[in-house]
Amino acid sequence: MREFDLINQYFKLPDQAPRADVIVGIGDDAAITAPQPGNLLVTAIDTLVAGRHFPEDAPADSVGHKALAVNLSDLAAMGAEPCWATLAITLPEINEPWIAQFMHGFSQLAQQHRITLIGGDTTQGPLTITVQVTGQMAGDRITHTTINSPNTTPPKALTRHDAQPGDQLYVSGQIGNGALGLRQYMSPSSTPTTDRITHVAKQAFLYPQPRVALGQALNGIANACIDVSDGLLADIEHMLAASQVGACVDLSAVPYADPAGDQSLQLNGGDDYELCFTVPTCHIAKLTPLLTNDRFGTTFTHIGTITAAPTFIDQHNQPIQTAGYQHFT
Ligand code: ADP
Ligand code: MG
Repeated sequence: MREFDLINQYFKLPDQAPRADVIVGIGDDAAITAPQPGNLLVTAIDTLVAGRHFPEDAPADSVGHKALAVNLSDLAAMGAEPCWATLAITLPEINEPWIAQFMHGFSQLAQQHRITLIGGDTTQGPLTITVQVTGQMAGDRITHTTINSPNTTPPKALTRHDAQPGDQLYVSGQIGNGALGLRQYMSPSSTPTTDRITHVAKQAFLYPQPRVALGQALNGIANACIDVSDGLLADIEHMLAASQVGACVDLSAVPYADPAGDQSLQLNGGDDYELCFTVPTCHIAKLTPLLTNDRFGTTFTHIGTITAAPTFIDQHNQPIQTAGYQHFT
């Protein structure tokens, strides 16, 4: 099969509900899109390398799902609405059943979030997948440049650098599914947890659900937000460093995927793709309707408080050590 046939057959997806804002999609030298006037564009990109970011033998539809999901999770953490994606894929060979399954996983999630694949690149080499997603967010140059001013009124972007002392810290869903799911996938017989917990963890590891609707709902309520990709503690630390604040986290309040299991593994494992966010006390009342809204597919839990002192401590005032995922170590 030739490269062009591959693109036409597998990557040029029939859109069930075509987006009117895609002027030129797959097939030309570049794609053309028309953002809504009065919106900012929000862009994220992530690469998955076989054997590094996913097991070489992972189901192909899970690889397609995850390649898009990790990017949607980044847009969710910014409070943006995802719109368009591009896909650069490096394949060792043309394995048609694998590519068909990969695109099945990708396009199911794309349809769920009304995203259109508008272009990409196809090359030969070790299996590597890069997806870029662009979204929109209400705003303009003026509100953008005043994002950090105390006088700014919503809408404003949801960033990781705006956590304020006194903010309350929350996390969505459960923490530890990424780590437990990977362990379950790699050695199915070694897990001491219940069948239900391992099944949920494995599904969440293979098919993470990005918290896109929740992120958009938090825009204008939360002061800061980050998605949990490197491990809850490491990602909280990233947010604290960017915001130049500290935090006191009640580690016993964290919604562990396996409450009786290894807490350190679950706090540091990563790949959860939940949202961790801070809310000023004046906006806490706005969280109540969100807690019971089925649209988000998840709920969230209070786990701590942001402090002016730049320390990271637990409920016993002991320093919290982090050991999240790092590249190049
Ligand atoms: P060019 O040589 O002009 O860069 P290509 O031959 O690489 O174009 O691609 C032809 C068209 O197919 C382009 O519109 C490109 O965006 C699209 N395309 C190529 N590979 C992919 C892919 N993996 N997924 C989606 N679109 C792709
Ligand atoms: Mg060209």
